[in-house]
Amino acid sequence: STAVAPAFQPVLDQIAADIAARPGRGRPADYIPALAEADTRRFGMAVAELDGTVYGVGDWRHPFSAQSITKAFTLALALSLEGEALWEHVGREPSGNPFNSLVQLEYENGIPRNPFVNAGALVVTDRLHTLTGDASGALRAFLRAESGNAELDFDGEVAASEAAHGDRNAALAYFMASYGNIGNPVPDLLEQYFRQCSLEASCADLARAAGFLARHGIRADGSSLLSRSQAKQVNAVMLTCGTYDAAGDFAYRVGLPGKSGVGGGIVAVVPGRCTLCVWSPGLDERGNSVAGVAALDRFTTLTGLSVF
Ligand code: GLN
Repeated sequence: STAVAPAFQPVLDQIAADIAARPGRGRPADYIPALAEADTRRFGMAVAELDGTVYGVGDWRHPFSAQSITKAFTLALALSLEGEALWEHVGREPSGNPFNSLVQLEYENGIPRNPFVNAGALVVTDRLHTLTGDASGALRAFLRAESGNAELDFDGEVAASEAAHGDRNAALAYFMASYGNIGNPVPDLLEQYFRQCSLEASCADLARAAGFLARHGIRADGSSLLSRSQAKQVNAVMLTCGTYDAAGDFAYRVGLPGKSGVGGGIVAVVPGRCTLCVWSPGLDERGNSVAGVAALDRFTTLTGLSVF
């Protein structure tokens, strides 16, 4: 359902005007052609209330490449199925390194630093694939159910392009496999991971789909995905690791758990209150949307809705 919000709509309109007046939007991700062609003038933002009511501005219904935003959802799904044992395979400390870095793996015996750097996300997808037999299928089914958008899907062209330019991710996966920290054949895992990254969704879809993180683990249909404690844990890892080596600055400026992707999207959570998704394809050097971070900064400043 969409409605004109008494509370959020004027805030979103104000933010869109502020963003439009800002110079400098960063540059789109250029590692695959499908992302490099994105128009950096695009901007959309959506807020979903706990009941799924969504408010939006700009390109908030325009599908974009979710990329690493999906890592918040695969973490939640894997944690719901595996519980604490998941943390034997992946850590939960900020990395301070770029999202696709290899360096920490050698010093930490193939256990990646956290679930949101690429190495950690590969491990989470590997666990989810083992536990479900179809990690990307489980992810898609969950996102369709939670967003209410039965059309949500992967983009085959983006997935193929990820695979064609996937040497770094392949290196990460094979390196971890050498430590025994990957259970599936690496080519199968990479296929799952590249498909996961290629998910196309809008701000409205992703804001609504993340609602369980604001509802302390409760899904859209009232059933429980995560315990209250586990939902807190996922939000905590998003706060400390969700924007990679910019997580400190993101906490400082925005003050919310957030998960970014190189498609230019960011999902953020106000526990107990609402979820947000913002999209603008221009990125900073660390792979986070420039206008997206600025918009979330404005949101928490205007509303006072922050975890701090
Ligand atoms: N597909 C990208 C990669 O694996 C996702 C990275 C991201 O969104 N930060 O490199």
